[in-house]
Amino acid sequence: MNIADMTPAELQAQKVSLEQQHQAFVAKGLALNMARGKPSRAQLDLSMMLLSDIVATDECFAEDGTDARNYGVLDGLPEAKRLMACFLDDEPENVIVLGNSSLNAMYDALARCWMFGTGGHAPWSTLDQVKWICPSPGYDRHFAITEAFGIEMVPVAMTQDGPDMDDVERLVADDASVKGIWCVPQYGNPTGVTYSDETVERLAAMACAAPDFRIFWDNAYGVHHLYADPDRQRKVVDIRPACERAGNPNRPFKFASTSKVTFPGSGLAAFASSAENLAEAKRAMGVQTIGHDKINQLRHVAFLEDAEGIAAHMQRHADIIRPKFELVARKLAEALADVPDCSWSTPLGGYFISFDAPENTAKRIVALAKEAGVTMTGAGATYPYGRDPRDSNIRIAPTLPPLEELDEAMDVFVTCVKLAAVEKALAEA
Ligand code: PMP
Repeated sequence: MNIADMTPAELQAQKVSLEQQHQAFVAKGLALNMARGKPSRAQLDLSMMLLSDIVATDECFAEDGTDARNYGVLDGLPEAKRLMACFLDDEPENVIVLGNSSLNAMYDALARCWMFGTGGHAPWSTLDQVKWICPSPGYDRHFAITEAFGIEMVPVAMTQDGPDMDDVERLVADDASVKGIWCVPQYGNPTGVTYSDETVERLAAMACAAPDFRIFWDNAYGVHHLYADPDRQRKVVDIRPACERAGNPNRPFKFASTSKVTFPGSGLAAFASSAENLAEAKRAMGVQTIGHDKINQLRHVAFLEDAEGIAAHMQRHADIIRPKFELVARKLAEALADVPDCSWSTPLGGYFISFDAPENTAKRIVALAKEAGVTMTGAGATYPYGRDPRDSNIRIAPTLPPLEELDEAMDVFVTCVKLAAVEKALAEA
């Protein structure tokens, strides 16, 4: 019977039964984790070739003759630019190859604007106020960066087409202190949403009061399709040429990495932007470093080769994680049919499922799950300052646990959702 149709006595009986089920999980002393978007061990094992002699002593020369073991080459070897262009959906000449973390690259890009300004405008640190548009639910580590700089974060709702563009256009139009926006255009974290063509065109063309407004375009999941069928894959219009066409060539800063392709701890990250922005970035970077890890660049080129090689490798990942996403979807549908006001995403790629619980129950659900040995991403984490105004959104990260553990973790999770929903219904009865 649907919880919404139960009498107080029936709800009470349900609560007792669910509490018993919850206690049974607590007694098991489980230690399961659906908190972070990490590849599983089986996925990491797919890239062990990187640790073989894929780049032998006599081959550690780049195609232009550069000895990868030595100092130099600030912006990356030519073949590494070609490879990373595939992840950035851009041309090699617009790419800078960096260290292993795109999050680090985003922090640095923001820090450069903060310290030195961008496009010849005043450093953001000298301004009275800097604001940032944060499509929410979004990625907690993006929000952590803007929060660390003391930037005022303005949440904007996510739709099935990307951020609510009416709101975004209104916010940027008459407030020059709004300097940027976080965007995960494909298979977003945590929504799984892919931006529509119209969203991208509007972002590129919108009139901004700030001449140095920047789109932080985090293409973290650009090649992370769950299905091989092209009809089930999503693709995004490239923001850089769209901005160029609209007369705003310097607006986008694009980022990507191989973190969820090879090894998150030892991959390659990259940045793409306009020629002017690349020159600006390189001026500052050249003071920070003489160059990044070129041996790792050669290793990645030898291992992944090109767009075709990347696609084949990503299908091997998909074969491991697709059953996990499908298991979560099945468990939610089976267990929560009778619980009102629950909804969840069924993404075609990326690393997350976004779950919306009945209003004012997310914190309770995550706490109940924790008691029963299942760690979830903290409730609220998907909103700026950790404040979900509806206390409803929970991010499910299904990739790390083996299938059997995920199965058990989901049993715990749905029990917690049901218990919190019954508690809420009783309180409102
Ligand atoms: N961006 C998004 C949207 C992510 O989900 C993640 C990882 N969870 C990152 C960036 C981190 O990227 P990197 O490992 O390249 O720092």
